[in-house]
Amino acid sequence: MIVHLNKNISLEQAKQLADKYQSILFENGKLVLVSPSKLKSADEELEKAADEVFITETDIQLASKQYISSKREIVVGDIIVGGNTNNTVVITGPCSVESEEQIESAAKLCVELGVKILRAGAYKPRTSPYSFQGMGLEGLKLLDKMRSKYGLKIITEVRDSTHADEVIEYADIIQIGAKSMYDHGILRKCGKSRKPILLKRGFGTTLQEFVQSAEFILSGGNPNVMLCERGIRTFETKTRFTLDLCGVAWLKENTNLPVILDPSHAIGYAYGVADLSRACVAMGVDGLLIESHPNPKAAKSDAEQQLNFDEFRKLFVSLKTVAEAVGYKVV
Ligand code: PEP
Ligand code: MN
Repeated sequence: MIVHLNKNISLEQAKQLADKYQSILFENGKLVLVSPSKLKSADEELEKAADEVFITETDIQLASKQYISSKREIVVGDIIVGGNTNNTVVITGPCSVESEEQIESAAKLCVELGVKILRAGAYKPRTSPYSFQGMGLEGLKLLDKMRSKYGLKIITEVRDSTHADEVIEYADIIQIGAKSMYDHGILRKCGKSRKPILLKRGFGTTLQEFVQSAEFILSGGNPNVMLCERGIRTFETKTRFTLDLCGVAWLKENTNLPVILDPSHAIGYAYGVADLSRACVAMGVDGLLIESHPNPKAAKSDAEQQLNFDEFRKLFVSLKTVAEAVGYKVV
């Protein structure tokens, strides 16, 4: 149950109520109490303290349509993701920042096409400790340089809580990767920030678990959460993962959070990224995250799935037509 407390309730009183009803308390313009969802009605004391009460079916609460029936609007500078914009925001860039030259050519591609958000990892969560782990702070600084030089917004990943503060400081959108979806240190830190968060679905998690991870951020007081479907592990081995488009339909129907799709990590091979991207856009989605690289063969991570710039250019143009056909606009 979510309770919007009325203005007469002091912070002290609110804390006592939170204790009594085993609730999380946060402030976001108003004081909000979130109890476990098994509490299905407000007693007299809560009723008196409340402006509004929202009952939800499960512990998907702040992200639910029962709480907010429309889609949340996430503001990234002059770009709006979600809300009633019908924007499909395209985000691109290489898997990792590898050098100034490499990230600058990616930034120039964005400028050339009008893509406003550049994405690249500075801290990479690799499966093997022997693989390239990212440039770290140096990578963040290069992204920062691209932002000021080219007026782009930057999305980059926080891999673990040791550098969470750095990433939160540098990024315009903070990416929480699939392998970190359950990292409560990261989730809680992101809950304290007010910057937009892109939360990727763990590849072995249910939709319920995925959205419950988002609840950790939302109940920390950060309302700016976007969900990213990036493929789940199935019995199939020909592709890297399986993009769960049924799951996307479920998220759109049942949550109030914008949904971004990542076909690159889902298939894992460049040959399928264009077709999959068009399929995603045809569903009417809030954004698309596509990996591109000036020289994919030489990429230090995810070499097989990144599009070269000509492939990306061609794809980008075709996405506009597909988006228009379903009442969306590529931005
Ligand atoms: C990435 O975005 O480069 C990445 C590591 O993705 P994921 O967390 O989805 O595996
Ligand atoms: Mn990658």
